[in-house]
Amino acid sequence: MITTEETEDAFTALADSTRLGILRTLWESDSGQATFTELRESLGMSDSGQFNYHLDKLTGRFVTKTDDGYALTIAGRLVYGSILSGAYNKEESLGPVTLSNPCPACGGSRTLSYAEEVVRVECDSCDISPSAGVPPGVFAGYDLDAIPAVANRYFRTIVQQTDNGFCWYCEGKTSPRVVPMSDIISGNVDYPGDGDELPVVEYGCERCGNTLTVNLGNSLLDHPAVISFYYEHGINVHETSLWEFATWNTDRTKILSCKPLRARVSYHAGDERLDLIVDEELSLVETHRTSL
Ligand SMILES: [Zn+2]
Ligand SMILES: [Zn+2]
Repeated sequence: MITTEETEDAFTALADSTRLGILRTLWESDSGQATFTELRESLGMSDSGQFNYHLDKLTGRFVTKTDDGYALTIAGRLVYGSILSGAYNKEESLGPVTLSNPCPACGGSRTLSYAEEVVRVECDSCDISPSAGVPPGVFAGYDLDAIPAVANRYFRTIVQQTDNGFCWYCEGKTSPRVVPMSDIISGNVDYPGDGDELPVVEYGCERCGNTLTVNLGNSLLDHPAVISFYYEHGINVHETSLWEFATWNTDRTKILSCKPLRARVSYHAGDERLDLIVDEELSLVETHRTSL
């Protein structure tokens, strides 16, 4: 992980309205660049020595010098993009919206709602209630009935990015570990089947320490064996809601052994079942395809 000093350096570089104004001016510039004088004048500063002091604090980290002046670095774009992402705060709560497909765990009816930056799916017949954080800017500009599909695309994007090895928050290196769900949550939730044996995937970031917990059925959804299995049954996994592939009972997902760790997930389509068995690092150990 990076040191507190390095993090504070970066925050200090941004903690000034002139410096944020420089980022905004470069972001909004048509050419993506601006000269020293253009920047200084756009921020209404007459003292070029003082302006240079602020510009210097950003240069090298968030701003780079070009032949024609200054431009944002990728880190500068990411910082400014995250300011925009947090700038929308209108959609404080949304829903509930009734979901079209039944609960994959029990067949009950489900609703999706959004409050306090968390999307939560609730079932009227069981305690399975997946939830995940979503910044409010994600839902800006969509109608209420589009929210489940937008939330689904957002989660799929997060899972894919994290599974590809990049932290959603800081771009740091992530790696997966398959663990029993009882390691992650306290045992208050009444899951169908034997809750102790349910495996989940915990992705950890080496840089910021953030972790993301993903259902094993969702985590392996982009594996070629899974994509082709569903494709042969006429189902495009990329156009189907992530919730449909979440596995919450031990018929569909299970820890088979602890030392070495082996976990199985089963996908069902038509009259067939595809089993994937993975190790602790989420590497595929075996696949089986059987008729139901
Ligand atoms: Zn249910
Ligand atoms: Zn991170």
